[in-house]
Amino acid sequence: MALLGLGGDVEESWARLRGLQLSRLAESTIGRITANAMAAMVVLGLFYPTVPIYLLIPWVAGLSYALFRTMQIERELGDAERRVVSKREFRRYADSSAITAAVWALAMLVLPAYGSWTDHLALWAIVAMLMAGGALWLTTAPLGSVMFTLGVGLAAIASFAFAGSYDIAVVVAAFIVITAAGTLRAARTYLAACIAEAGVAEKSEVVSLLLREFEESEADWLWEVDTARRVRSVSPRFAFALARDVEDIDGKPFLQLISGETWETGQFPPSLHDLAERLKRRESFSNLIVKVMIGKQQRWWELSGTPRLDESGKFTGFRGVGSDVTEARESSEKIAWLARYDTLTGLPNRLMLMEALGDAMRYAEQWRSRCAFLMIDLDRFKAVNDSLGHQIGDRLLAKVSERLKGIMTDNELCGRLGGDEFAVVIRDASDRDRVEHVARSVIDLLSRPYEVDHHTLYVGSSVGSATGPRDATTVEDLMRNADLALYRAKDEGGGVHCVFEPVLHTDAEERRKLEFALRKALENDELSLHYQPVVDARTEEIVSFEALLRWSNKEYGTISPVKFIPLAEDTRLIVPIGEWVLREACREATQWPKSTKVAVNVSGEQLLAPHFANTVLSALAGSGLEPWRLEIEVTESIFLRDDVTARATLEKIISLGCTVALDDFGTGYSSLGYLRKLRFSTIKIDRSFVQGAAQNSAESLAIIRAVVAMADSLNMSTTAEGVETAAEATLIRELGCKKIQGYHYGRPMASIDARRLFANAEALRRA
Ligand code: C2E
Ligand code: CA
Ligand code: CA
Repeated sequence: MALLGLGGDVEESWARLRGLQLSRLAESTIGRITANAMAAMVVLGLFYPTVPIYLLIPWVAGLSYALFRTMQIERELGDAERRVVSKREFRRYADSSAITAAVWALAMLVLPAYGSWTDHLALWAIVAMLMAGGALWLTTAPLGSVMFTLGVGLAAIASFAFAGSYDIAVVVAAFIVITAAGTLRAARTYLAACIAEAGVAEKSEVVSLLLREFEESEADWLWEVDTARRVRSVSPRFAFALARDVEDIDGKPFLQLISGETWETGQFPPSLHDLAERLKRRESFSNLIVKVMIGKQQRWWELSGTPRLDESGKFTGFRGVGSDVTEARESSEKIAWLARYDTLTGLPNRLMLMEALGDAMRYAEQWRSRCAFLMIDLDRFKAVNDSLGHQIGDRLLAKVSERLKGIMTDNELCGRLGGDEFAVVIRDASDRDRVEHVARSVIDLLSRPYEVDHHTLYVGSSVGSATGPRDATTVEDLMRNADLALYRAKDEGGGVHCVFEPVLHTDAEERRKLEFALRKALENDELSLHYQPVVDARTEEIVSFEALLRWSNKEYGTISPVKFIPLAEDTRLIVPIGEWVLREACREATQWPKSTKVAVNVSGEQLLAPHFANTVLSALAGSGLEPWRLEIEVTESIFLRDDVTARATLEKIISLGCTVALDDFGTGYSSLGYLRKLRFSTIKIDRSFVQGAAQNSAESLAIIRAVVAMADSLNMSTTAEGVETAAEATLIRELGCKKIQGYHYGRPMASIDARRLFANAEALRRA
């Protein structure tokens, strides 16, 4: 029915199909009308002598009328493809087809009576030709053809039956069936092709729309080159990226446009060379970072491209997309540098020192030699810092690093661990005197007076050393042992070098006692949580509280988390303690307004413990806190150990609906890579940068800006930590941080005080 145009009236898609069918009719109208007229002429020639004129004239008139109607209607339907065909139009089309069929059926019924048997057969032959012609010509809209075949065919059968030629009537019937079936088959094939064709057209329309939209989106552009790698079809945006005019560049070699002066020499930078190679080899590439010269300016582009082939598979050039990633890249380079170097002194930082020590230990093991780690601490530095200020302190540190660098050889690497702590890795310390020699020179050199800003400053230094693999077999242990030795050196009054000895570990006896007390802390209910507000930088409204652990013990008094958390981590006590913190914090948060979140610090140890995600789930379920109100704070150090497990656990927690913040960003290991590894909701910029920025340190300002820009581009929020004054708050707000935490807005406070904050706010609102 649908094929005939009679089905599915309601659905618009069928109406559109009908449009597709009918629109093609107009192409063959003239041909069909001519065929009809010629057939009519032949019929007149056959029967003119015998048939009375009063029969012939109305017949010719009827046929003319039918053909005229057909022509009119089919012309109107010429544009049916692009619109919906109305029911009335379709009816008129069907009517005109029916009239044509009726006229010929009449001829078939009436005329044979006036002619011979041969005339009868000749008439059938003519009519059969019209039927066959119609079946072939009207494949697009089979209704007319089927009506004609059936109508005229039945008349023919009747006429032969009248004449008593039943055999011929059967042949005619067979012909009709075959013709009608053939018509329908052809129509079906045609319609299927139409539908496919319409689909393709629609698709290419969609593609071009997408391309246009893409071209209109902000940062990216399309580029295209021909087989000789000359740019073609230059878009305005691409021209803009090249800082040239469209007419200026069309047809110029692509590489010439982006290689600057190296074009002449052919000495491309590696990334450009790589691009050139790929173009030459006709290889597709994606997200290739290329260093380009635009005018006199060096920029970074990210390019993707695929070779284009024509229908016959011949290579016709490249097409692709590109964008300028200079800004993103510069800030990521900055962060990468930050990852390995100390920003204040330019010396390698803790991470790089640890890597160097790891290398040295492997080397020592392989060659059965020794390596050593020296820890250096400045004596009396705190006094300088406190009396003369941070700026002088910082300048002093810079001078200290200059001197240290001066005595290093290829065998040694010095760096800054943080604060006034420095360290030296001695790669090959097989010579027993080597360590002592380096330590002595360090102490001598660093204790000479310094001239800073017209002040003459005297600071000494103490050194603790440990030798691997004798004193320890892992980087951490060796560093800890050197630290124990340094502790002893300081204890002796400074200015000396102490070598690690196992007895030093008895000092650790004290620690063990502390550990014992810590083990009891949970049972004895000595732990509590304090809560520090985090405010929205703009509105200064409290958005969350960070839960901070407090421990007070009968014997030791109040112990800072800075001291006992590392101990808890070393002894894995952090796992049960952390679980308690989590439950307690979630429970407390349910007492706050619904919009206030709670942030809980979580150590790497906890993440690596099995079932940590379950602990979170159970803390949420136990308290009834909605998951989105819980934020887990982790530091980058979690990625240093079992990166895969830690990440998997955090992913699980994120899938529960909680958020994860990256704490203390910028203090040790910071690397852009970590930011990409997980969907952090917030980056917490460490207090040291906030303080640095407040003291106008260009480095700190630049880093905060870079981190904010990076966070923005990754859709993460930023929290500035340790904001202590209104001036700092203003500065931080201007730098674009989204949230602020620090003494200026509130110190960590007991839970009851935190609740009171809300009660007060509520009371204020009521008043
Ligand atoms: P954090 O996560 O970086 O916490 C912020 C620390 O900065 C807190 O020290 C807070 O009191 C302090 N602080 C906040 N604002 C200011 C300010 O304006 N100026 C200054 N000078 N300090 C400010 P706190 O409470 O001593 O905690 C120290 C560290 O102990 C925390 O550093 C965190 O790493 C760890 N910690 C605390 N509670 C937990 C815990 O429940 N679990 C774990 N794993 N670690 C915890
Ligand atoms: Ca924290
Ligand atoms: Ca922090």
